[in-house]
This record gives sequence, structure tokens and C-alpha cells, in this order.
Amino acid sequence: MNKLLVLIINDMVIFPNNEVRIEYDNNYDKQMVDIVDQIDDNLMIIVNPIDEGDISLTSFPKYGVLGRLKLKMNVPNGKTRIVIEGIERVALSSIVEDGFYYRADYEAVTVEEGEEAKSYFSILIKSLENYVAKVPYMGNAIMSQLHGIDCLDDLCDLIVSFLPIKYEDKKKYVVMIDPIARAKALMEDMNRDLKFVELEQRIENEVEKELDDTQKEYFLREKIKLMQKELGDGNNKDSEIETLSKKISKLKCNAKIKEKIKRELDRYESLNSNSPELGMVREYLDWMINLPWNNYTKDTDDLVKVKSILDSSHYALEEVKDRILEYLAVKQNTNNLRSPILCLVGPPGVGKTSLALSIAKSLNRKAAKISVGGINDEAEIVGHRRTYIGANPGRIIQGIRKAGTTNPVFIIDEIDKMTKDIKGDPASSLLEVLDPEQNNKFSDHYIEEDFDLSKVMFIATANYVEQIPYELRDRLEIINISSYTEYEKLDIAKQHLVPKELEEHGLTPLQVQMDDEAIMTLIRYYTKEAGVRELERMIATLFRKIVKSILLNQDMVFYHIDEKLIEEFLGKKKYSYMENDTSKEIGVVNGMAYTVFGGDILPIEATMFKGKGELILTGSLGDVMQESCHIALDYIKANVDLFGIDPKSIDKQDIHVHVPEGAVNKDGPSAGITMTTTLISLFKNQCVDKSIAMTGEITLRGRVLGIGGLKEKVIGAHRANIKTVIIPKENEKDLDEIPEEVRRDLQFIMVENYVDIYKKLFQ
Ligand code: ADP
Repeated sequence: MNKLLVLIINDMVIFPNNEVRIEYDNNYDKQMVDIVDQIDDNLMIIVNPIDEGDISLTSFPKYGVLGRLKLKMNVPNGKTRIVIEGIERVALSSIVEDGFYYRADYEAVTVEEGEEAKSYFSILIKSLENYVAKVPYMGNAIMSQLHGIDCLDDLCDLIVSFLPIKYEDKKKYVVMIDPIARAKALMEDMNRDLKFVELEQRIENEVEKELDDTQKEYFLREKIKLMQKELGDGNNKDSEIETLSKKISKLKCNAKIKEKIKRELDRYESLNSNSPELGMVREYLDWMINLPWNNYTKDTDDLVKVKSILDSSHYALEEVKDRILEYLAVKQNTNNLRSPILCLVGPPGVGKTSLALSIAKSLNRKAAKISVGGINDEAEIVGHRRTYIGANPGRIIQGIRKAGTTNPVFIIDEIDKMTKDIKGDPASSLLEVLDPEQNNKFSDHYIEEDFDLSKVMFIATANYVEQIPYELRDRLEIINISSYTEYEKLDIAKQHLVPKELEEHGLTPLQVQMDDEAIMTLIRYYTKEAGVRELERMIATLFRKIVKSILLNQDMVFYHIDEKLIEEFLGKKKYSYMENDTSKEIGVVNGMAYTVFGGDILPIEATMFKGKGELILTGSLGDVMQESCHIALDYIKANVDLFGIDPKSIDKQDIHVHVPEGAVNKDGPSAGITMTTTLISLFKNQCVDKSIAMTGEITLRGRVLGIGGLKEKVIGAHRANIKTVIIPKENEKDLDEIPEEVRRDLQFIMVENYVDIYKKLFQ
């Protein structure tokens, strides 16, 4: 085995199963850490020399700790910060000098623990409980780490790593091998400390009688300073503590929280400057002092003004706007109305997030925004416990701090994109955040104190309502925002996007004229989306190029945007919708898809050839869509007589079904009737008119069930030149949502059973 490098530390002790952070400005140590950083397992041996003044072979102790370098980073003050994890106690041998460093062989120290050790184990835990309960500067953090410790050896190492004793006393515990001896020594150390604390408390009680509060505080602080001096802590934190203390006294929060913050400040004051906890306590104080515990903005109560701000920023979206106005109206009639918890559901770019921001502005509230898409760890929502290295509050508290008020509009984006795994279920943590029964006492693991979220107006956004975890969906007031038709996009562009972008580019409507036709060209051939985000970007690109061109060719200052100019500035047309060719083919039928771009038609193809009677499916179909295809086939096979199909003609034939066009999410049951029709067309050798498109789920008995996204699908079909649309009868109620200009061009056929479709298309 290769000898390991030895890191010599003079002011801090590391124990097995413990982590320490160290900062260096010393070049030798830095270089050594660099070497350790480069070896595979990042291992080294850490020792505390017997005599600090004499770093030589003779001052090496017999035992050290095998440690792993977990993190190394250079910090701005020229120092290097490292985190080392202690692994096990080791015996050193054959120590040699290697240039500026030392290397040593090592062997793990193992200890046997018998009955006596077991008794000491429980006695030590009791002593610890007593100690933690009585010593004010000993936090509870250690208790939460006891879980999982089952031998005296580990217990002693854990306790001593927390114990606030001098370096000299601490390092003895590394070389004390017998756990029982260590346990005894620990109990002695704790007892001594307890006696000291008791004595202190007695003095304080007496002092208290004579001094008023401010004098008492002064007295205690002086005492802490003296004690620190005694412990050799020369670091001067006084002025920082004074500033923090002032901030705390001005802080608007309840007495309990203030008390807690003060206690933490005392702890901060009492910590030695080398203590690994120092930075953590400081950071915690920072969070507690900067959270808006009690800082409200007053909602605007002028409904007309709110409406006009919302209308001027967003076209349509009446349902959300109305909901906000209703909320305000009712709030004015009652004193303490809970904010609604809205969830705006719709495809990307339809204005969910920007409308939420505009709601904040219209109400005169601050806004906070987080995204929970892709998170799989509940600590992201509720924070890490403070004992965890690098702990932080969760995203909710982070958002609140950024907003700076207790009642912001809090936007939670992509609530349908969270995942669940071994690190917990973030959705159930979000439940606590959004549940009005509980959220006035929201408890972040890091902050530890309850935070009142009940005045926050939460607005969540999602693309698909079905993908929002069920328990959450229950709490949310879902408002659907569907994709825009071309005509709606045209209006949005004319009324909002073009004026906004003109202003942002320092242009005037006189300088740049953009008529409906030009905007339509952008919508149809340069964007493919449900919302208007890409359209907005295209308009911005056009205007940017115009500004550049105006500045370069001073003579040309007026622009009329037409198709030619668009092509010059934006290049050739990018998109064409699936053009619906009118040629007739057997075994090809148009389905209707709901995609992130809105809706489109989705032709399904089928063919067959001699084989073993297998069903082949291609086009990356999801499980549910594959099942649909099996159902369609079995439904036909069970009803060959009804459909006039000769069973022999499909016997021993391999049937291949393909769904082309990559960009569509091919899952869900709504292609059921299209699959059935495609197969019947194939088996009967009969074409289906391509001006027809259909959508609907099919059951084994041929019933046609309702589907989602009808508005988008119909708009997409209309754009692709479809004339007749077959839809489930269940969806008749949704026809109202379809814009009039689309509806009047189409013929709708409502069906309850597949036989209705068969009669229309094949008889
Ligand atoms: P989402 O959150 O739904 O993905 P965004 O809110 O980010 O969409 O909207 C994208 C862009 O489109 C924003 O700049 C927004 O102003 C604009 N926009 C979307 N819908 C509308 C609308 N109804 N009226 C005006 N602008 C809109």
C-alpha cells in the first residue's frame, strides 16, 4: 500500500464520521491539499502534533484520523477553503519526510465492545441529554445525529466533536483508543462544564436582582468577551455583533422569534473563531434578520385601476382577470379574506407568468417567482436541516426573502413537472405551503420557526392539468388558458406586442408600419406555437434589424413591413403546417393532436402483409396509445360481420400501424377512433376522405368516450384545411369554447358509438 500524505493541523481536531471546514493561507498546506485533490480517492491522514512548536518526526502522535478531502475551493481573500470528512481512527507507522511533507503507513484501529461498553453507552447518552438540556450554548443539533449510532466508539467521537472544549483537551481524544476511557473522560468534561454553567447562572441570578436589563446585557457580554479571551480567541467580532444586535432590536417580528434570534446571536458571540459552526450560525442570523416577518404592502382597492392595468398588459384572459377583481371586491367587504390559490394551466407562451406578474403590479404587491420543474427533493421546498453542511432554506423562503414582503404574489412555475423519488415527494411539501389551513405556520427545516404564508397570493402555472399531482390539484383553483387562434394572436400582436416592442426599440408607429398581413405572415410561417412568445421574439428581431438599418443608412427612416422585408430580415419561411393533401389513400386517416404548439392534425397509417398475425407499432407511441391500437384491432376482429370484413383476409397477416411526424407527444387514448377507422379502411380496402379528421377514445365495446384539448385540436384541424370533424358526443359541451370564425367553417359530427362513424364513412 502506498504511504499517505499527512496533514498537520494545529488548531482544530477532526474525528471519524465528522466533517470540518478549514481555511488556509499557508502555501505548503495548499500545495499538499492540491496533491491530495488529484489522487483518486482524495485520502490523507490528519494528525494534531504533540508539541505545536516542533513539527518534526518526534512530535508525531501514534494515532491520527484517516480523512477524505470532500471539497476544495479558493476564496476571494487568497485563502483556500477545504472540507474534510473523517473516516476512521488509524495507527501511524514508518513516517518519512517527502520534500516539504510527511508520508506515513497506516492501519485502522479496531476496538471490541463488550457488555461494559453497552452500559457506558446508555449512561453517556443520559449524561448528554442532561448536558444539552442545561447548557444554553449547546444546540440541539447533536441529538438529531444520534440516530443510527450503535456503538460507544462512534458515540464518543460524535459527542467530542460537538463539545465546546479547548483544542488541547480535544486532541487527546484522538489518541485515546479505549472507548470506555473516552466515555469517562467525556462525562468528566461535561460535568465540569455543567458546574461552570450552574455557577454562572447563580451569579446571573444575583446580578439580575441588582441590575436592570441593559446593564445586565452589558455585563454578560463583557463576561463572554473575557471567557473568549481566556479561550484564546483573539478575533474581534464586537462591531459586527453590535450591528446585528441593532438590526434585531428593530426587526418587526413576534417576541418568540426575536428571542430565538437573540439566542443565536449569543451563540455566535460565544463561538470560537475557529469553530466550524461560526459561518453557519452567521448565515442563519443573516436569514432570520432579513426575512420579512411582518412587512405588508397594502392592496390597491381601486377596482377600475386594477382592471385597466390588467387590460393594458394582457389581451383577453377574462376568467383570470375577473377572478382577481372578485377577490378584491369581496376583500373590501370583509376584513380578513384569504388570498385565492390560483393555478393557470395552458401551453407555453399564453401569458401565464406575465399575467401573474401583472396581477402583482396591479394590486401593488411585490412579486416572487420560483420554478419547481424537475425538482425531486422535498428539501428544495422546505429546506435542509441546519445540521446538514451547506444547508439553506427551501425555495419558498428564498422567494419570500427576495420579495421582501409578507404578502407578495408568489408565482410557482411548472407545478406539473415535479418528480418523486427516494429524496421524498416535493408535491406533498408544496401541499403544506398551499394549504390555507396550515400555511400560516409554514415550517422551513432550516429556519425552524413558523412563517406565516397565509397572506401570500399564490399563483401556480402548469402546462397539463392531468400531470399536476392529484393531492395538489385539489387545493388549487384551476383556470384554463387555451392556445390562441391565429386571429387572437393577430389581435394580441396589434394591441400589445407591436406597440410594446416599438417602444422598447425607440421606434414610433409612424416610422414603422406593420399591417395585418405582415403579422399574419409571421404567425403562420415564422412561428409554430400555442402562445405568442416566439411571435414576440420575431417582432423584436425585426425591429432590432430595422433600428440597425436606420442607423447605418441614414436616408431610409420609414419602413413598411411586408412579406419581402420579412424575408430579407428574418430569412426564408420556417414552418408550414401539415398540409393536408387531398389525394385518396387506403389505410390513412387524420387524427387530431394536442401539442405544445397548440393543435395539429395527426395522420395515422396502416398496412398489412403475410406473416404470423402480429401487430407492429411504430412512431414511438406511448403505452396508452399502444393499448388503444390493440383495443381497436380486437374490437374490429370481434365485429367482423358488422363491418363486412372477411376474417380470412386478415388472418395470418402482420399488421403495421405507424404514426408519423415527430414533434407530437404520442400518448393518450384519444387516437382510438382514428386507429379503428384506419384499420377498417385497410381491411375493407376503402378510402376515407382526407378532409375529415377525428378524435375520441374507443372502448372494447365500441363506445366513444370524451377527450381533452378539443379547442386546440379543432383550431389545428381548421388550420390544416379540414372540413369535417368527428368528435365524441361527450365533448359537445366544449364546442362553445371554439372561436366563432373557426366553428362556422367546419361541420361537426358528434358520435356515441363507433357504429355511427362506420355508417357515415363506409356505408
Ligand atoms: P407562459 O408563462 O404562459 O409560458 P409568458 O407569460 O411568459 O407565457 O408570455 C410570453 C410572452 O407573451 C410575454 O411577453 C407576454 O407579455 C406575451 N403574452 C402572452 N399572452 C398575452 C396576452 N394575452 N396579451 C398580451 N401579451 C401576451
